[in-house]
Amino acid sequence: MTGTTAMSARGAVLVLNAGSSSLKYQLLQPDTEEVQADGVAERIGESESSITHEQDGEESTEVLALPDHHAAIERAMRFFADHGTDLTTAGLLAVGHRVVHGGRTFYRPTLIDPEVISEISRISTLAPLHNPANLIGIDAARSLLPDVPSVAVFDTAFFHSLPDAAATYAIDRGVADLHAIRRYGFHGTSHEYVSQQVAEFLDRPVDLHQIVLHLGNGASASAIAGGSPIDTSMGMTPLEGLVMGTRSGDIDPGIVLHLNRVARLGVDQIDTLLNKQSGLKGLCGENDFRSITEKMAAGDAGARRAYDIYIHRLRRYIGAYMIELGRVDAITFTAGVGENAASVRADALAGLENYGIVIDAERNAVRAKHARRISADDSDVDVLVVPTNEELAIARQAADVVAAL
Ligand code: ADP
Repeated sequence: MTGTTAMSARGAVLVLNAGSSSLKYQLLQPDTEEVQADGVAERIGESESSITHEQDGEESTEVLALPDHHAAIERAMRFFADHGTDLTTAGLLAVGHRVVHGGRTFYRPTLIDPEVISEISRISTLAPLHNPANLIGIDAARSLLPDVPSVAVFDTAFFHSLPDAAATYAIDRGVADLHAIRRYGFHGTSHEYVSQQVAEFLDRPVDLHQIVLHLGNGASASAIAGGSPIDTSMGMTPLEGLVMGTRSGDIDPGIVLHLNRVARLGVDQIDTLLNKQSGLKGLCGENDFRSITEKMAAGDAGARRAYDIYIHRLRRYIGAYMIELGRVDAITFTAGVGENAASVRADALAGLENYGIVIDAERNAVRAKHARRISADDSDVDVLVVPTNEELAIARQAADVVAAL
């Protein structure tokens, strides 16, 4: 991390990922991949917020009141200044914003102007938990860094070209069209980045049939043929699909009706139940895989059951995508759980030797930060672990948009 000197070489990109009460940021060079600084502000809007900034090998944490995202970015800018980086004069190439939902409108990284802002705001009804927070981040960055172009990179974009049969829900067409109800998919920046890394790692740029399993706190699977997604597990919202940290993933939609009619829960209560109090957390009280693994080791039956349900759902999706793809060349694990939890990888693919999938236990047990193969030499399917890097992908896409201006 070298502050202003390295930045003058080409111009770095500031990547912002604004959540409802958090802001993650990273300053990086899209070409050299050098991360010059990163940080996270948490509990924004509460009386005791905190911000952690890392630059030049130094980590500083401060507990203070950050009433809004504007205040968080301002505080981050002062941290940058303490390290000799004045973001207003540093020649930043762009600010790249992660925006969760692009709706039917946005499927490419997009230069932000007032019209784009109002369209992102209009489609916020599709992602009421995420897009408004992303917009607050955009607004704060534009007012604090008015001379730096802002680019929105959408989490749904990669899945824009999903085949119609995979993207369409079997509900009344009139209602679906009127309310933009279709399967959009999320974590697209990660699925695209990781699948490209896999193609490079295997030196097989075309016609690769692969399954990518992004297992973080949120989790999603995708089936990708020749670089194009043919299916993905998240749907109109990030609630569909795999069992996640706090989200239920697939449930019978009739449960929502039952909760409303019989349990008398209102729509916001059901929203909170399914998004924040379900998944692993709802099943065993923990959403962090490290705690679940520890509890299982101590004989906790609830943690074991939650784990089994998580693995069951994961295997169901892997099986479905193997059939959809017809032929699978690679299965890749990524994100916090996928990159770190060796037992999840082993259990997700256990007993599939007849399908040409054989994990090598020793390779699977290695902890590393780089892309690696964990399948046995006699496995027909390559099983890989590839770290995701959404910030780098956003920085590259933002830099490309600005370069084309
Ligand atoms: P997100 O970006 O969705 O918030 P991450 O991709 O950072 O999530 O993944 C976070 C999750 O990864 C944590 O909740 C935890 O369950 C899991 N995780 C992180 N490190 C480990 C580890 N060493 N072993 C097992 N699970 C881990």
